[in-house]
Amino acid sequence: MSSSVVVVGAGFAGLTAAIELAQRGVHVTVVDRLPYPGGRSGRYDREGFQIDTGPTVFTMPELFRDIFRRAGRDPDEYVTFRKLEPGYHASFADRTSVDGGGRLATFSDRDQMYAEIETQVSRKEAEGYLQFRRYLEELFAVEFPSFIDAQLDSVGALLGNPRALVRLARLRGFQRLPKVVRHYFGDERLQQLFSFQALYAGLSPLRALGIFAIISYMDVVLGVVQPVGGMRAAADGLERLARDLGVEFRYGRAVEAFVLQHQRITSVVTDEGSIASDAVVTSTDPGDLAQMLGRPFRRLGGLRWRMSPSCFLSLRGVRGELPASLGHHNIFFGSEWTQAFEDLVDSGRMMSEPSTLVSVPTRSDPELAPPDSHIVYALEPVPSLDGRFDWERMGPGFVDRFDRRLVRFGVTEELTTSVRHDIDPRGWAQLGMDAGTPFSLAHTFFQSGPFRPTMQDPRISNLVRTGSGTTPGVGLPLVMVSGRLSAEVALGRLQ
Ligand SMILES: Cc1cc2nc3c(=O)[nH]c(=O)nc-3n(C[C@H](O)[C@H](O)[C@H](O)COP(=O)(O)OP(=O)(O)OC[C@H]3O[C@@H](n4cnc5c(N)ncnc54)[C@H](O)[C@@H]3O)c2cc1C
Repeated sequence: MSSSVVVVGAGFAGLTAAIELAQRGVHVTVVDRLPYPGGRSGRYDREGFQIDTGPTVFTMPELFRDIFRRAGRDPDEYVTFRKLEPGYHASFADRTSVDGGGRLATFSDRDQMYAEIETQVSRKEAEGYLQFRRYLEELFAVEFPSFIDAQLDSVGALLGNPRALVRLARLRGFQRLPKVVRHYFGDERLQQLFSFQALYAGLSPLRALGIFAIISYMDVVLGVVQPVGGMRAAADGLERLARDLGVEFRYGRAVEAFVLQHQRITSVVTDEGSIASDAVVTSTDPGDLAQMLGRPFRRLGGLRWRMSPSCFLSLRGVRGELPASLGHHNIFFGSEWTQAFEDLVDSGRMMSEPSTLVSVPTRSDPELAPPDSHIVYALEPVPSLDGRFDWERMGPGFVDRFDRRLVRFGVTEELTTSVRHDIDPRGWAQLGMDAGTPFSLAHTFFQSGPFRPTMQDPRISNLVRTGSGTTPGVGLPLVMVSGRLSAEVALGRLQ
């Protein structure tokens, strides 16, 4: 009889793990308390609008497509991607006008990006971009295979590749990111454009290490794609592949406990009965898992885990025309940079002058909304519930200011808002996210690699973690890597 594994969570990590295990003849049951696949990549369906409620910036689609290829399937039969060129439309506030200064688009195409910087900034900065791009290519070639797509479950494993570590150090991977970026760009706007991505890892772009420049590489060099049908279409594609491989799904069921024998799980207890299992792969948030296992949610030495900042998300379905200047992904950089990140990341306060991501997915996929309508997805970083912002008392004032900013960005009152749905950190917490943040544990040095919760649970031999709360970390590309690596760990526990 084949072994059986329960995968907790039908997010991108759990789905990837399930597919990898099923290909190797394991009987897999995926359990999720939500009624649909995708996890954080959810969707809000109202009045003909299909609005993604989670990730919107999809990078490294080849990692996604490889999941299908490894299973001997053609990814194009499951999901279609469109390349977004430009990837982002960036607007920069200057110090004197609230309407912002210049605008700049990002292109993954080298020549187009060169031309854009040359036209909008200067030839010198465009030359700097070419050098920076070569630098990022080199950094990625060293860092990705050795430190991201790799099992780094102990300090020994981290130090086990000294050549790669030395190369990373030579590439200034352990210097501060702003210093690395300043080496290539004198223009402050370009420095911001090529370093804000550190925030995706829960870090201040001012304090992050150079190794985090790799996120800029994924974002603005490899570029951004959009799955046709929205982000959930990608999760649906993975789910369909899993079903084709024989994976069973139980939606709307919460896993509440594990039955243990000699420090091994023998079955998984859900709110609707138990499922026998030879191993468990779980993408439950680490704090939630600690609670389920009756353990303190602390790191080595009893220290508290530091959570990433959270976000405020406003989702709207609007009728009417948006300004032509709003593209698919738009970033509006706030006028304050240094203080804003000190506030948010170091002090857990609201950013004084926040930067805002405004996505209009209907620019490239009009089918997501009724005719003559658009989806507006607006996101701002805010403190997690571990921070110092009282949402009950100060939330309404924040939302007023947020709405005024959106009007400035072109989401004006002349548009008819047919649908509106806001999510603040309290909403993320209700969805089971530790400290009300969707971005899990911050990627500080001592919360990355071997210092992050390891895939293999230290005490229960057949319990394996996957997803953003373990290695390599947060974001769709990384959790898909996590899903594959965690399946390998689980297979090892079945032998
Ligand atoms: C608003 C927002 C914007 C984002 N933007 C981006 C972006 O642009 N690009 C990007 O790459 N990433 C982005 N991310 C981050 C990205 O979505 C996550 O890192 C990734 O989706 C996490 O995948 P996962 O499989 O680890 O976890 P999840 O997607 O959270 O999946 C875990 C699943 O497990 C289920 N589960 C947990 N515990 C239990 C239990 N006890 N019983 C049953 N089921 C359980 C949950 O219901 C959930 O479905 C964003 C996230 C959000 C919310």
